[in-house]
Amino acid sequence: MEEHQYVTQTIDLYMLKISSKNTGICIQSYLKRSMYDVKKIVKNNGYIRLVKGAYKESKNIAFESREKVTENYANIMLYLFLNSKHFVLATHDLNMIKLSESLNKKYKRDVSYAMLNGIRNREAVKLANSGHKMIIYVPYGTEWFKYSYRRLREASNLKLVLRSLLSRQNID
Ligand SMILES: Cc1cc2nc3c(=O)[nH]c(=O)nc-3n(C[C@H](O)[C@H](O)[C@H](O)COP(=O)(O)OP(=O)(O)OC[C@H]3O[C@@H](n4cnc5c(N)ncnc54)[C@H](O)[C@@H]3O)c2cc1C
Repeated sequence: MEEHQYVTQTIDLYMLKISSKNTGICIQSYLKRSMYDVKKIVKNNGYIRLVKGAYKESKNIAFESREKVTENYANIMLYLFLNSKHFVLATHDLNMIKLSESLNKKYKRDVSYAMLNGIRNREAVKLANSGHKMIIYVPYGTEWFKYSYRRLREASNLKLVLRSLLSRQNID
């Protein structure tokens, strides 16, 4: 999912194709509209990948503080546990992963986890070894550089990438 101006079209397009079991849609918890979108998609049996959101958005439409974005992530995640059979939690936030594991003990959903390659690889291996479905995103193909550059261009991501390189998060 890209910047907010594409969200409505992307969701509308997804709703047209929702009968295909092999397609899912990414929803960003920093957008104030997202709980509403999630409810609509889940009611139509859609398959959601929940992220916090990567772009700089205006405070009219997006939560500004990290705490609020995380709080909304937790609220949407709880909604998914209560109402959806299967979904993907795409996050490196260990508190969210911990919370999801305790919710899954109660609700027993088909939850997959997804992370970007190189950020929390050890945690990813741990999740996979404990029986969870684990997806690792690896940019590839002819456009891999543009994709990676867009991720790095976000100042906060650059800080995070440097921090994760320094803390040697790669698989040994
Ligand atoms: C599989 C996957 C698919 C995604 N798809 C989309 C999408 O379609 N649209 C979109 O807007 N966003 C997408 N994102 C990005 C997402 O929205 C967030 O920007 C990003 O994942 C950081 O949020 P977080 O949940 O990891 O929590 P945060 O609170 O931001 O991070 C938790 C901790 O993880 C580490 N960390 C997180 N991100 C990085 C990083 N890039 N480099 C180094 N360390 C990091 C840091 O230690 C940080 O403290 C995707 C993320 C993943 C994992």
